[in-house]
Amino acid sequence: MNLTFAFIVIGAAFIMGLWAQAKVSSAYNKYKQVGARSRITGRDAAAYVMQAAGVHGVDIVPIRGQLTDHYDPVNKRLALSEANYYGYSLAAVGVAAHEAGHAVQDKENYGMLKLRMQLVPMTMFASKLLPLVIFGGFFFHMFGLIYIGAACYAALTLFSLITLPVEFNATARAKQAIVNLGILERDEMVGVNKTLDAAAWTYVAAFVSSLGWLLYYLALISGSNRD
Ligand SMILES: [Zn+2]
Repeated sequence: MNLTFAFIVIGAAFIMGLWAQAKVSSAYNKYKQVGARSRITGRDAAAYVMQAAGVHGVDIVPIRGQLTDHYDPVNKRLALSEANYYGYSLAAVGVAAHEAGHAVQDKENYGMLKLRMQLVPMTMFASKLLPLVIFGGFFFHMFGLIYIGAACYAALTLFSLITLPVEFNATARAKQAIVNLGILERDEMVGVNKTLDAAAWTYVAAFVSSLGWLLYYLALISGSNRD
């Protein structure tokens, strides 16, 4: 393992992350201005997708912020940002249907979602530990910390890897449901596709970034063993 390679991966992930974020913003900002012909709100689109898949007992609630949308599998709560909850844009319908896709995964006991949920405590622990590891390693040159750093990034990399199929699958379900249920017409799908496909790249960038940092710590360990 070498440091140069790790830095190339980290750098590539950083650029990919910026590019993906810009793509999400531009797609979202463009398609939140284009109304769905059916005038269905994001809230109703999510409710319709869940109902058609036999998902019951999930609350759909509006929350503040831009693109703060998420599905909470612990509390069975689908939270949509206000613009997507009340809005009837192509972007709102796409994002809402994607979140509903997570609720459908949950109902169907989709394995990757279950695994991701099981990894949450470990991931939270690793992200809390990491600042201490970096701080301690940088200012005090506490050497054993590189092993803990590697372990933290191994956990985060695994988590962000498992996130990929979960996200791709929710988007695939959303696109399919929107078409099958006739929520949008086919020519309107471009707004959904561009918004959701851009969002998928942000998860890929997060995974590559985490992998880059894991490689960095592994390079430090292999370098230290060589001395
Ligand atoms: Zn998602």
